[in-house]
Amino acid sequence: MDLSESLTQLKRQGLYRSRRVIEGGQGVKVSVDGKELINFCSNDYLGLANHPAIVEAFKQGAENYGVGSGSAHLICGHSRAHHALEEELADFTGRQRALLFSTGYMANMGMIAALAGQSDYVLEDRLNHASLLDGGLLSRSKFKRFGHADMADLERKLADTERRQLIVTDGVFSMDGDLAPLPDMVELATTYRAILLVDDAHGLGVLGADGAGVLQHYGLSEREVPVLMGTLGKALGTFGAFVAGSEDLVETLIQQARTYVFTTAMPAALAEATRASLKIVRTEHWRREKLRALVEHFRLGAQQLGLPLMESNLPIQPLMLGDSRRAVAYSEQLLARGFWVSAIRPPTVPQGKARLRVTFSANHETTQIDALLHALATIKL
Ligand SMILES: *Cc1c(COP(=O)(O)O)cnc(C)c1O
Repeated sequence: MDLSESLTQLKRQGLYRSRRVIEGGQGVKVSVDGKELINFCSNDYLGLANHPAIVEAFKQGAENYGVGSGSAHLICGHSRAHHALEEELADFTGRQRALLFSTGYMANMGMIAALAGQSDYVLEDRLNHASLLDGGLLSRSKFKRFGHADMADLERKLADTERRQLIVTDGVFSMDGDLAPLPDMVELATTYRAILLVDDAHGLGVLGADGAGVLQHYGLSEREVPVLMGTLGKALGTFGAFVAGSEDLVETLIQQARTYVFTTAMPAALAEATRASLKIVRTEHWRREKLRALVEHFRLGAQQLGLPLMESNLPIQPLMLGDSRRAVAYSEQLLARGFWVSAIRPPTVPQGKARLRVTFSANHETTQIDALLHALATIKL
C-alpha cells in the first residue's frame, strides 16, 4: 500500500485537504496564523457558537453534572438535562417525541439502518449529505439514488416495487443551499405509501417563523413527514443531533439504532448549553431577519458583479467555479486578503462542480460583506 503516492496524486488534482488551526473561539472574526480573518465558511448561522449565555449554561451544566456522561443513554448516561432537552426539542418541532444522538452523522446512519431492512428500498437524492448516503448503504437495503430534486425520477423508482420504501432527503442541500421540493415529495410518499425522512441540518433555526426549520417553512406535519432529523452543531451553535417524530418512532430507535445504543451519551453540560441556545433561537427573531437581509445584500452585490451565484436564498451562497484548482486558487487569494471562504471540491460535490461556499452569520455586518464583494471583484486568476 503506497500511501504517499496516492497523497501526491491528490495534490496534483487540487483535491488535497488540510486543516487550518484557529486560535480562540469561533466567530465572524477568527485568528489563524497570527492573522485576523473574516469568517465566511462557518455553519454558525445565528452566531450562537460563542454566545455568552450559552457558554454560561455550559459552565453551569459542568458544575451540576461534571464533564463525562459515564456511559450510553441506555446504561446510566441519560441525565435530567438530556431528558429536558429532548422534551424541548419535541415541543420546538411540534412532534410527540425527540431523541438525542451524539452527532448528526451517527443519527443518520443509525436511523436509516433501524428503519429499513434487507427487504426494503431506500431512495435518496443524489446530492444528499454523505451521512445519509452512508446510512443507506449500511442498512443493506436496496439502495437507489434519484436525480437531484427530480420528482419524475423519484416517481419512476417508487413505482418500481411493492416493497416498503423510505424516501430520504436533505431539507436544505448543504453544498447548494437550495430547498428540497418537500410538498411534492409528500404527495409521492402518500401515493406510494413510502415513509419520508428529512434531514434538516441547515434549515433548523434558520427557516420557519420560529426557526423550527424547513417543515415549518412549508407547513408540513408529523403525519406528512414522519421522520425529522436535526443537528445542533449548526444554527444552534452547540453539538449533537436529534430525531423527532412519533412515540413509536423514538421507541424503535431506542431499541434498534446501533449508533444510539452503542455509544456514550453526549455530556449533560452540552445538553444544558443547547437548552440555553434553543431559548435564544425561539425568541430572538431578529437573528433570522438580519441573516435574510445580509443574504439579500450579498446576492444583489454579487449579481451586479456578474458572479456565478446559484439558486439559493439561504445563508449558503455557493459561487460555482467548476474546476477544483480554480476554486482553491480563489480561496487562497481571498485568504491573502483576510477572508476565509472554503473551496468545496469533489467528492463533496460532483466532478466539475467545484465552488466557493460562502456562508453567513447573523453576526456579520454589511460592511464586511461589501469588503468580501470588493475582494471577489478584484481577484484576477
Ligand atoms: C452537518 C450535517 C450532518 C452531520 O451532522 P454532524 O452533527 O456534524 O455529524 C448531517 N446532515 C447534513 C445535511 C449536514 O449538513
